[in-house]
Amino acid sequence: MLKKHLGQHLLVSKGVLEKIADQLEIEKEDKGVEIGGGTGNLTREILKRGPSKVWVLEVDKDMIRELLKIEDPRLEVLEADASEFDFCSLGEGLKVVGNLPYNVASLILERIVFSHRCVRRAVLMFQKEVAEKIIKGDSWMGAFVQFFFEVKYLMSVPARFFIPPPKVVSGLIRLESKGTQNIDPYALKRFLVRIFSQRKKKIGKKLPESIIRRAGLSPDLRVHEIDLEGLRKLFLVSYRVDDDRGDNNVGQS
Ligand code: SAH
Repeated sequence: MLKKHLGQHLLVSKGVLEKIADQLEIEKEDKGVEIGGGTGNLTREILKRGPSKVWVLEVDKDMIRELLKIEDPRLEVLEADASEFDFCSLGEGLKVVGNLPYNVASLILERIVFSHRCVRRAVLMFQKEVAEKIIKGDSWMGAFVQFFFEVKYLMSVPARFFIPPPKVVSGLIRLESKGTQNIDPYALKRFLVRIFSQRKKKIGKKLPESIIRRAGLSPDLRVHEIDLEGLRKLFLVSYRVDDDRGDNNVGQS
């Protein structure tokens, strides 16, 4: 029995499973992490590509039992909640993949961003509108991801390719690490959540004008009109002020 509350929609299209695995571009010695292994459809496809190690995170004991039937010394099944997982605990240069449980997909993505130093590439299935939002980058989450990863929309996947079919169309995206970023993701998250709240308000109402000017921007802009580079400058200027003054509330939620 599949459990709806765990987002169990198994991907049964061979073509889509292959495409996901191909997009990880696995080379020998690569280490992979699969989120939500289910019955192992995608796990098997990943193992075929020749990684040296694959960890699978899964919360459901029934699914774990299925996954343990795959006899492969490279595979390690972990009973772990991906929405609370520290990916860096598994090493660096990881290639992460998952047909994500949609109810916790955003939380899982957040964990991946917090572990950005250890994740080289990720190929992830979301519900399509969430995938599109991440690509557009005009939400706190989209911007958050793009501070650390190049993002690419790979394809839409219709509901009929899953068992049982979800109510929504799905979208597959790829994240590619931008390399080391000297940015504290926790401070960045607080900053982005704050400036993306009440989107219609001009940023002049959210941040001190001196900071906005120092970032080379106008206080009349609305947050969605500022590109990633502008957001980066704004964050760096705010954060530095934050550091200097200690008690300044800029960048805090
Ligand atoms: N990879 C399989 C299954 C995808 S369904 C396939 O593509 O066919 C999503 C899977 O994520 C389910 O097996 C579900 O039990 C698991 N899951 C749900 N919440 C999870 C969480 N918080 N952490 C890890 N796995 C989770």
